[in-house]
Amino acid sequence: MAEVIVVGGGPTGMMLAGELALAGVDVEILERRPTADLVGSRAGGIHSRTIEILDQRGIADRFLAAGHTAQTARFGATVLDIGDLPTRHPYGLALWQDRMEPILAGWVDELGVPTRRGAEVVGVDQDEDGVEARLADGAVVRARYLVGADGGRSLVRRQAGIAFPGSEATRSTLIAEVEVAEEPPTGMRQDATGVHGLLVAVYGTDFGVHSPVWISRFIDATRQAAEYRRGRILLAGTSPDALLDTYGAERHPAGARALEHSMAQTVLQRADDRTAALARTVDELVRMDEPRIRIAALIHGLDVMRVFALLHDARHLLLNLGEPGRFDGAALPHRVQLVDARHQGPWELPVIGSVPPPTALLVRPDGHVAWVDEDPARPMHDALARWRAGAELRRGSRQDR
Ligand SMILES: Cc1cc2nc3c(=O)[nH]c(=O)nc-3n(C[C@H](O)[C@H](O)[C@H](O)COP(=O)(O)OP(=O)(O)OC[C@H]3O[C@@H](n4cnc5c(N)ncnc54)[C@H](O)[C@@H]3O)c2cc1C
Repeated sequence: MAEVIVVGGGPTGMMLAGELALAGVDVEILERRPTADLVGSRAGGIHSRTIEILDQRGIADRFLAAGHTAQTARFGATVLDIGDLPTRHPYGLALWQDRMEPILAGWVDELGVPTRRGAEVVGVDQDEDGVEARLADGAVVRARYLVGADGGRSLVRRQAGIAFPGSEATRSTLIAEVEVAEEPPTGMRQDATGVHGLLVAVYGTDFGVHSPVWISRFIDATRQAAEYRRGRILLAGTSPDALLDTYGAERHPAGARALEHSMAQTVLQRADDRTAALARTVDELVRMDEPRIRIAALIHGLDVMRVFALLHDARHLLLNLGEPGRFDGAALPHRVQLVDARHQGPWELPVIGSVPPPTALLVRPDGHVAWVDEDPARPMHDALARWRAGAELRRGSRQDR
């Protein structure tokens, strides 16, 4: 029995499974697609912080080699250049999802994560000790935890009884990947009747469109799962048991904020004169440095602090920037590595700006800072005790089996 089942082997499921494997957790992916092939190219790229996270695991080069870096973040119609932000990767990466997924799958394979393909989950049940996933072929797979990484129409979310509240759609867009007989003008056209790509009504021709790979309709309905955890079922990401509730508390507001920006941008794309005037005003504002940096850092996920090579094996990192040797490495939990380091001058953080460096900090495997030694009310052993509790619980779970 695996400790964790991840339902869905898309980008979220594979990344999560890789992270869990690095943390020493037995994990298995259940994916309904019979092969790793993806129909259509789907998402067009990733943002700076995602490249950083791949860099933290030592695999960013694989993705960078396959795509093209560019200034990809937009707010409304404005391209937000992040070339001056303090990051190793001050750009986005243009790389289609059908080329990205095989690279992720290769990494997950290297980490020894089994992926069961052609495994469609049709039901999920949990009890005190574990979770069972029922498959379409009648098989039942049991684990201590189950994570739903099964996309926007998540069966796991519905089976767990987690609500999906939000705003109804205000517009609907038809997109397709097709071949054309004539070269159409590039880009999209916006006029009083909407945003258009290829339409006889707008251009007087369909450019000989034929052989669609896929046709899809997307809408701007904006919804967020009400909870990210229900008992032993989670909706994305995971962590030791003692931390599972803070996962929702921490990530739910971050998700809500991203959705709020997405809704604001949708409004700016409406095709009437007043919205166009508003979009021009916003465009002027977000070209100014302060709003540009704030919004670009949010879109790119750079409003956090990061370290890289020291996180390749996804262990916690206690970075001692003060007197060398003042921490006893042997007294630290197994999955915390101690590094004595030196830093000169202030730190430059996106959004926050220049800050004096602390003399020690505890960095989580995802690169977020869990503790700095500035606040006497929050001693390090409190932060460590929570990680240790989780680690011991995991070790205990392995001995149970
Ligand atoms: C046509 C199309 C075009 C898109 N274009 C863009 C774009 O241009 N830019 C952009 O940013 N995003 C785009 N997206 C969205 C992007 O593809 C998603 O944001 C991304 O795939 C989400 O990754 P995920 O791993 O969370 O979910 P998914 O990629 O949806 O992966 C979920 C996985 O779970 C599997 N699964 C689902 N149900 C079950 C089940 N019951 N049992 C077992 N397995 C299951 C699925 O087969 C799938 O592999 C597009 C999406 C579509 C459909």
